[in-house]
Amino acid sequence: MALRQQGQDLALIEQAKEPRTEGAGIQLGPNAVRILKALGLGDALAEIGWEPKQLRVRDLASGASLACLPLSDRQVAKYGQPTLTVHRADLQDALLTRALELGVQPQWGQNLESIQAGAWGMARLESGETIETGLIVGADGLRGRSRLAVPNASRPSATGQIAIRGQLEVCPNPRSELGQEITVWCGGGQHVVGYPIRSGKLYGLVLIQDAAQWSLDHSWSTPWPAIRLSQLFGESNNLLRGFLESVDDWRAWPLWATEPLTGPDQLVFRHSVLIGDAGHAMRPHLAQGAAMGIEDAWVLAHELQRLGPQGTGIAALENQPLAATQYANQRWQRIAMVQQRAQRSGKIFQLRGPMALARNMALRAAGPQLMDQPWLYGHGLLGHATDVVL
Ligand SMILES: Cc1cc2nc3c(=O)[nH]c(=O)nc-3n(C[C@H](O)[C@H](O)[C@H](O)COP(=O)(O)OP(=O)(O)OC[C@H]3O[C@@H](n4cnc5c(N)ncnc54)[C@H](O)[C@@H]3O)c2cc1C
Repeated sequence: MALRQQGQDLALIEQAKEPRTEGAGIQLGPNAVRILKALGLGDALAEIGWEPKQLRVRDLASGASLACLPLSDRQVAKYGQPTLTVHRADLQDALLTRALELGVQPQWGQNLESIQAGAWGMARLESGETIETGLIVGADGLRGRSRLAVPNASRPSATGQIAIRGQLEVCPNPRSELGQEITVWCGGGQHVVGYPIRSGKLYGLVLIQDAAQWSLDHSWSTPWPAIRLSQLFGESNNLLRGFLESVDDWRAWPLWATEPLTGPDQLVFRHSVLIGDAGHAMRPHLAQGAAMGIEDAWVLAHELQRLGPQGTGIAALENQPLAATQYANQRWQRIAMVQQRAQRSGKIFQLRGPMALARNMALRAAGPQLMDQPWLYGHGLLGHATDVVL
């Protein structure tokens, strides 16, 4: 979409035969919402997004509130945009609708097999087709193949944590605290995140556990028996246990991530450039993986526009890799910082024993200052290209 808005021609290759839906929510921070609105998704977000009033941290065992950060109006005043929660299927629909409006024509059921670097970038598809172009943008996620074309790309590995997701068909009362906020319940070696989605009609839950002993396949949705869950989360407070028992369909998968980036050459090589999880899959504890992919796309499109010319002529052949290098130079440090903070948040959420007590004291004393992320959500942090347009 960002490329089309800049008047670039593109071919979009997608291995799925048709759009797939997933039964899970996603948080969109102000940095992601800002860009999605600039891409023309404002009306769609108004329809599918739910705006939490605050972010609250609670103790997993007692349920006691430890800290609360106001979001909503306060974020709009401070960052220009709110945090939204969205059902992934709704977001996917909205993205696809807007992409089609902008003239993107996805080629469904086309599997990228390999990328070869020559005078042009060449993508070879499983169908035997090849596509030659000035720039191949690898946006094929954690398990994609495009990173093989970037020799220094970081390789994802298992984090030793498992995420288990489910959703309640009935949301907590919208007037109750739980019905108005994103809640993180912190325990020893485990934590739970819950928030309303679909305008408060559903309540999404993600349980994160240290679980190196389970060898799940590397997929999105291994069914997970509820009984095993109540054993695992036996220490949780009654309310949360009630939630865990009310969900029939739990799905689990191991969390994989790359180490924080150490340089721009991990995102680009000649005619290949990586965006999103393909270049920097991260732990989900800052709720920023997709947001970073959205920022990547925005910055890359603006670098391509800035350095022009467009099309498939010889000048484009030279300038598109240069724009991709500029993109990588602009992005890698910010992404590395998000990756580091996500790692750190995960550790803090799961502290045990005396360290957990110290965390709780710190949160009670200075929660809002510790939980806010001005460096992440603020304006003017995406580089000049974005600042001009937004
Ligand atoms: C538990 C959990 C909670 C999360 N919560 C949040 C959150 O609240 N907020 C947030 O911002 N992020 C969150 N994330 C991170 C977010 O889900 C990911 O960062 C994001 O989905 C990555 O998007 P992507 O487009 O880069 O990759 P993907 O979503 O993996 O998409 C890759 C696409 O490429 C296609 N593809 C793959 N291989 C090929 C091939 N060979 N040929 C053609 N097509 C191919 C795939 O079919 C797919 O459509 C969370 C992650 C987890 C695990």
